[in-house]
Amino acid sequence: MTFTTRFAPSPTGHLHIGHAFSAWTAWQAASEKGGRFILRLEDIDTTRCKPEFDQVIFDDLIWLGLDWELPVRRQSEHFDDYARVLERLIEKGVVYRCFKTRAEILEDIARAPHGAGEVYRGPAEPMGADEEAERVAQGESYAWRLSLDRCREVLGERFGAMRFLDEIKGEQAADPDPLGDVILARKDVGTSYHIAVVHDDALQGMTHIIRGEDLFELTPLHVLLQTLLDLPTPVYRHHRLLTDAKGQRFAKRNLAATLKSMRESGMSAEEVRAKWGF
Ligand code: GLU
Repeated sequence: MTFTTRFAPSPTGHLHIGHAFSAWTAWQAASEKGGRFILRLEDIDTTRCKPEFDQVIFDDLIWLGLDWELPVRRQSEHFDDYARVLERLIEKGVVYRCFKTRAEILEDIARAPHGAGEVYRGPAEPMGADEEAERVAQGESYAWRLSLDRCREVLGERFGAMRFLDEIKGEQAADPDPLGDVILARKDVGTSYHIAVVHDDALQGMTHIIRGEDLFELTPLHVLLQTLLDLPTPVYRHHRLLTDAKGQRFAKRNLAATLKSMRESGMSAEEVRAKWGF
């Protein structure tokens, strides 16, 4: 299988030096292996993502010296694909509608037995079909949550056997339990990062996922989705995150750290990489 990896930014602002490190790491790995490097725009959040950032992202990455396959996949053009994934999960009976408000969820978490963790673990009793149909008919908003209890039932022994390889940390058990019952879609959006990323990584033939270690804790959930959907689990590499002089991670609002400001100041990509040590 051809080594295939990607950089998958969300165009909610300008890329910063942390993104450059991530993109460079993935691109360089693909180059070393004579593999494929894919750029994907993760723009399902249509309120926060702005098309004007797309071109800046392309300009930044070209300046950095990267190249990628065309056409670039924009997730906002594929909501139908993600709706089909959600449909499969509904058919499998592993997701449920959750009508609770944020405040109600927080109350439930606070009431949960000690040690249940700071996450939502589902309703004490499943909602009756009549009540659910009534609330849907009333047009109430809801989220689709993944039921870890149902996943355990559906997958049986496969649930506890899920694993993934992290190239830095080594072989890992993929235990989604610390995340609780996560939201996989909202009524109005119809998908989430989790569904879209897992679907697209498989569709685009990713053999290696190279991304920041801030996403490490979500990988067990992605492996669970891959298992439920009969998709292959790629190899992962969760790389270190660059930090500023105060040890803080870079944020898109930190304008001095954006690639756009660096390239407009006349710095070369080599100087930037030398300054940040990659
Ligand atoms: N779109 C995600 C982000 O910008 C990255 C997703 C990933 O690499 O899995 O944080």
